[in-house]
Amino acid sequence: MGDVLDYLGETRLELGPAQAAERKGNWRMARDADGIAWLVLDVPETGTNTVSEAVLRELDDRLAELEADRPKALVIRSAKPGGFSAGADIGSLSDMDPGAAEDLLRRGHAVLDRLEALECPTVAVVHGAALGAGFELALACDRRLALDGASFGFPEVRLGLHPGLGGTFRLTGLIAPDAAMTLMLTGKTAHTKKAKKLGIADEVTEERHVRAAVQAMAKSEASRDRGLRGIAFEIGTARSLAARRMRSQTEDKAPKAHYPAPHRLIDIWEEHGGDRKKMQEAEIASFAKLLETDAARNLIRAFFLRQTLKKAGAGDSGIARVHVVGAGEMGAEIAAWAAVQGKRVTLADVSTEALGRAVRTAGEVCKGAHLSSAETRDALDRMMPDPKGYGAGRADLVIEALPEDAELKRKVYAELAETMRADAILASNTSSLSLSDLATGVTGPQRFAALHFFNPVSKMQLVEVVGHDGTDGDTLDRLAAFCTEIDRLPARVADAPGFLVNRALVPYLMEALVLMEEGVPKEVIDRAALRFGMPMGPVTLADQVGLDICLDVAESLQGQLDKPLPEIPARLREMVEKGNTGKKAGQGFYDWSDGAPDPGDGDGDGPEDLTDRLILPLCDACVTCLRAEVARSADEIDGAMIFATGFAPFRGGPLHYAQDRGAEAVRERLEALAETHGPRFRPDAGWTRLT
Ligand code: NAD
Repeated sequence: MGDVLDYLGETRLELGPAQAAERKGNWRMARDADGIAWLVLDVPETGTNTVSEAVLRELDDRLAELEADRPKALVIRSAKPGGFSAGADIGSLSDMDPGAAEDLLRRGHAVLDRLEALECPTVAVVHGAALGAGFELALACDRRLALDGASFGFPEVRLGLHPGLGGTFRLTGLIAPDAAMTLMLTGKTAHTKKAKKLGIADEVTEERHVRAAVQAMAKSEASRDRGLRGIAFEIGTARSLAARRMRSQTEDKAPKAHYPAPHRLIDIWEEHGGDRKKMQEAEIASFAKLLETDAARNLIRAFFLRQTLKKAGAGDSGIARVHVVGAGEMGAEIAAWAAVQGKRVTLADVSTEALGRAVRTAGEVCKGAHLSSAETRDALDRMMPDPKGYGAGRADLVIEALPEDAELKRKVYAELAETMRADAILASNTSSLSLSDLATGVTGPQRFAALHFFNPVSKMQLVEVVGHDGTDGDTLDRLAAFCTEIDRLPARVADAPGFLVNRALVPYLMEALVLMEEGVPKEVIDRAALRFGMPMGPVTLADQVGLDICLDVAESLQGQLDKPLPEIPARLREMVEKGNTGKKAGQGFYDWSDGAPDPGDGDGDGPEDLTDRLILPLCDACVTCLRAEVARSADEIDGAMIFATGFAPFRGGPLHYAQDRGAEAVRERLEALAETHGPRFRPDAGWTRLT
């Protein structure tokens, strides 16, 4: 019986004799009958291997044993079904001073150099992801044997760093240096096929062939043909030319002033490319210095904020079947995304055209998620158009994505009550209606809440999970867990006007429109926000969200806040009346074609207080939300704003930014802006409590 279950279960990882070897620290090691040593990384009490100081120290001990009694070959692989290694232990790096970091790096480098110098063939067998320091460990082996689905990448730039454990010279030394630099500069992952094509993986195989492939590799020498490109870039002028191109491309995506790390990496390669020793020295020194930069500190902070949000969605939702009502802009994407992530979904709408469009949307969502054709087929099989709404009776969760009309929503809730299971959860995607108002008349209000997704659902990671006074805790826990299960980040917020994200975003968007009314060109306004570090200017964002939706949300907020919002410009209403609603209409403040705005030609710098007029009201709204307990903590607010709006992540979130600048100084600046431009800038009472 046991054998049958083994056979039916997941394919076992081939760990050779290390399977049965005792774990010492983080590693297991044993030799097989052919004299091949199997060294397996198996960090205790976690499902994911990270490369910590202890992992490297113990590797050094194992290498000493192997040097003393040299095996025929050495295989390094992970015992974790999830993958090879997620990278370095970031927590331990984040508060280290540069001296200590440099010291730690030097010791780590010495270990990987020792592995590289081991006098026998060394093979890294990689399944799943080998990222950051994990990739660097694999690069210190002579060869890499990839299993289907393996991926390799250096996500360090996303943390304001670059590879620091030998990646800069080992990858540029292994494959075409310009391709290596692109991987390191973009932080993108090379999946199996690409990894093979680039020369990162020497061979690709399946789990059942690992032993045979390892035996074959143990008998042969690694051939190192760097190719013409490798040789060409040994010439300084060739590197300088390429470096210039890399700099300008990098500047577009990650300006040096905000993201120094990729620019330092280009400098290192331009100066020392091809000279391994010098690159190693420069890499260590630069990495240690980068750890001290605000960008790295704040990006590492953003990484941990993501973990915090994720943790709030831990556990099992118990939600397998989802019924979505309303297959419009939002419902179609919510349904498709949930199906892509493995949920069984039915999707209802009164309009058959809407259902037809939703099926096309689902195809695009699958494409965007890089699904294979088999995965796409499975995902589409899981999403059933359901014009009669039969799925409501079987669903664990019903998500309502009807037009923003309270009467209509209430009417449909009453219909749903006839068919929904007594234990099922009903969640509205409303942006601006009060949840407590909607809850009156709902059967089972304790299982009624909001799941506020952002548009487009497949790209925007955050989902606000909102309860009203009568929602029970278990419902909110299950909804948060559901978000994590479909790879979105839940932020638990209270039922306040605009919840958290729109409450903070509307003053920012509206101020941009007021500035336009004052005659500041839209391009100048957008550029100021981009310079601050926003991923998109507010005018472009308004067009992208839809001017009708912006108007709707602003109007509904205006009546509900105790603080004035910028007056809604008449021009916005006119444009909405004319149907010029932004990107979806092809015409908003910008002309749109092929999904991109016409760049426009507005010139100049705008008024001196332009950036503060945009950003500080957003920060102020976050302070209000913190004071009024709309969100549970300052960290959750910062995380939500980063992952819902892309708020300059290298600034660590709006509240962190304000605190960095000095809460009192920002409060005074808001007072001054209120003097000049009116009471909408009046600072919230909560500033004095922010230290
Ligand atoms: P939409 O108008 O694009 O889609 C609504 C769909 O509901 C339409 O396809 C319509 O045919 C269908 N419908 C109408 N009456 C119905 C009924 N009785 N039964 C079944 N289907 C019916 O709207 P949307 O933009 O997807 O917004 C849906 C909800 O999501 C709203 O509450 C909105 O506030 C919220 N929201 C929208 C956005 C956004 O950017 N669009 C973002 C976040 C939240």
